[in-house]
Amino acid sequence: MSHLLVIGSVAFDTVETPYGKREFVLGGSANFFSMSSSFFAPVRMVAVVGEDFPQEHLERLAQRGVDLEGLQRTTGKTFHWTGVYYGEDMNQAHTLDTQLNVFEHFTPQLPESYRETKTVLLANIDPELQLKVLEQIKSPRLVACDTMNFWISGKRMALMKVLEHVDLFLLNEKELKDLSGQRSLLSGVHWLRERGPQIIVVKRGEYGAMLFYRDMIFSAPAFPLEDVRDPTGAGDTFAGGLLGYLADVEEINELHLRRAMIAGSVMASFVVEQFSCDRLISLTPDEIQQRFLAFQKLVHFDASHELPLR
Ligand code: AMP
Repeated sequence: MSHLLVIGSVAFDTVETPYGKREFVLGGSANFFSMSSSFFAPVRMVAVVGEDFPQEHLERLAQRGVDLEGLQRTTGKTFHWTGVYYGEDMNQAHTLDTQLNVFEHFTPQLPESYRETKTVLLANIDPELQLKVLEQIKSPRLVACDTMNFWISGKRMALMKVLEHVDLFLLNEKELKDLSGQRSLLSGVHWLRERGPQIIVVKRGEYGAMLFYRDMIFSAPAFPLEDVRDPTGAGDTFAGGLLGYLADVEEINELHLRRAMIAGSVMASFVVEQFSCDRLISLTPDEIQQRFLAFQKLVHFDASHELPLR
């Protein structure tokens, strides 16, 4: 079975949504990603936490097959992000505060056993750290990258350098517009393709996600849910399903990319049901399979007959 490698944040989040407020709950891009992708493939994690991070959660990750040899624990506080979702708009998180804490002086050092990993996610974190990790990997088959506005505006040059080495780039609609300066989604995708990544996934919150690969465009809906309690981590959890699925396929092709998009959408549809990564903790493989089938019903239609036009 092929491994996945992730570099990203492991964090405490303070989050407010119309459903309430939670303080210092488990979060971070690498955390959500690993919790999700570990249902599909063994994961190797590169990150740093402070002395205050609960050992219990690290043990939980380890039990799920997440290799923590590349996770450092140092003196100081764990990364802390504070965000809010205003009113009923759950598609856009507004960052109130970002405390990088132990990430400020973090130098990722990949264990020897990590260097041959074939599928890599440079999850949302300082692009300079993403580059340092990339430099230490021998010959990856698929390099994916995620980011957010904080880095698009704060470290744009470094991010553009990362993108030169990226095959698959995940970002949301607003980030695409901010980064490319283009008005439409499609022109933003073309702009990106000229700068490196050839597979682009645009996340659109409650409207689902779109994938652009060669001349194919595939649109996956978001699963209709009565209550979206906390969208934090939906993007990373989506990436976990997408890359977890792709880690083991023989060839990255249209068929597998479509299925991977649904795997990502399935995983994201769970995490938003509860705050933090609570839903990923209780999730079972059986529930994932059931929702995968429910997705098929949601998107399937028969185009074998032409429309009865007059
Ligand atoms: P998502 O909702 O999937 O975009 O990701 C949410 C996660 O990203 C939260 O759990 C945060 O801890 C983490 N996060 C927020 N801001 C940053 C940042 N600037 N760098 C790295 N991770 C971040």
